[in-house]
Amino acid sequence: MTQALVASAPGELGVQDVTLRALGEDDVRVRIAGVGVCHSDLSMVNGTLRPAYPQVLGHEASGVVTEAGTHAGVPLGQHVVLNWAVPCGTCWHCGHGEPWLCSTIEGMTGTPGGMLADGTTFEACLGLGAMAEEVVVPAAAVVPLPDDVPLAESALLGCAILTGIGAARNAARVQPGDSVLVIGLGGVGLSAVTGARLAGAGRIIAVDVSESKEALARTAGATDFLVASPDLATRVRGLTEGRGADQALECVGSAATIRQAWTAVRRGGTCVVVGLGPKDQQVTFNPLELFHFSRTLVSSIYGNSDARRDIERLLPYVADGRLDLAATITDRISLADVPAAFERMQRGEGGRALVVFPPHHQEAS
Ligand SMILES: [Zn+2]
Ligand SMILES: [Zn+2]
Repeated sequence: MTQALVASAPGELGVQDVTLRALGEDDVRVRIAGVGVCHSDLSMVNGTLRPAYPQVLGHEASGVVTEAGTHAGVPLGQHVVLNWAVPCGTCWHCGHGEPWLCSTIEGMTGTPGGMLADGTTFEACLGLGAMAEEVVVPAAAVVPLPDDVPLAESALLGCAILTGIGAARNAARVQPGDSVLVIGLGGVGLSAVTGARLAGAGRIIAVDVSESKEALARTAGATDFLVASPDLATRVRGLTEGRGADQALECVGSAATIRQAWTAVRRGGTCVVVGLGPKDQQVTFNPLELFHFSRTLVSSIYGNSDARRDIERLLPYVADGRLDLAATITDRISLADVPAAFERMQRGEGGRALVVFPPHHQEAS
């Protein structure tokens, strides 16, 4: 039996004993060390997304391989970060250099994870279901980590860090000296600030509704911090010689903030939608402004990343200290504390909450 956080219905969450599915020949069993509380997990229980229930949440996780199928090809004891977007390598998008749009990834949402105590089968969130002591996942969904990378904290490489840094580097294509606006400073937004810094941005303007985010934003690399306000675009132009930002990264996922990000970008600049928003809102643009401002509006899914390749590319930054995996972690909690972490997230408080399992759990065999 494995303890796991099960969403039984929208708003209904609890830790339960579950039985994981049997290990297949291409699978590995991973004892989880750390699992992040991501906004997408919240979206799966607050009605924004409608996944199948019951579902074990969690898709941003790291751990140790404790069992491997005969064809898995992963050594026991290997430290790994889980990848919720394993590209198939054969579909049209994979063949055209867009593995983050792989047509098989959406199918991962329907992956059976095992059984609840009463015999009901559950689904594993994004094929992982990582808010659990252990998971059974395809070997293709684990990315090896060096032993000297902090294991629990490296969970964030699997979603927030890859998404945020990739949004800045791959989607916005931030260049040295650029001015970058980041709206919404949760785990992803703070990582987008980090990504802008790593790309050599000049001015990095970080915006949040809560002024309590300023210290986190500046640690991540922000040069300016603004509390969100209706005149945001005017204030951004005041910091960018009247032009507006070269790139804006909207990390909230609402029509209002997308519109603000768009308006705060200079003529010819790029506005990137990173936040996952609902489908019952509309963003409006008039034809003249589309023509006049010549801006680009794009979205960024999983940071436009090939997770395995891009996580490997980030490891040198972790090793030399330019990327601090723990910089955005403000709460270290247990599985049972996740509902409270969702409430803090709803209120816009804190950075990343990380579920950490005790060392004896991580080391036991
Ligand atoms: Zn996530
Ligand atoms: Zn594919």
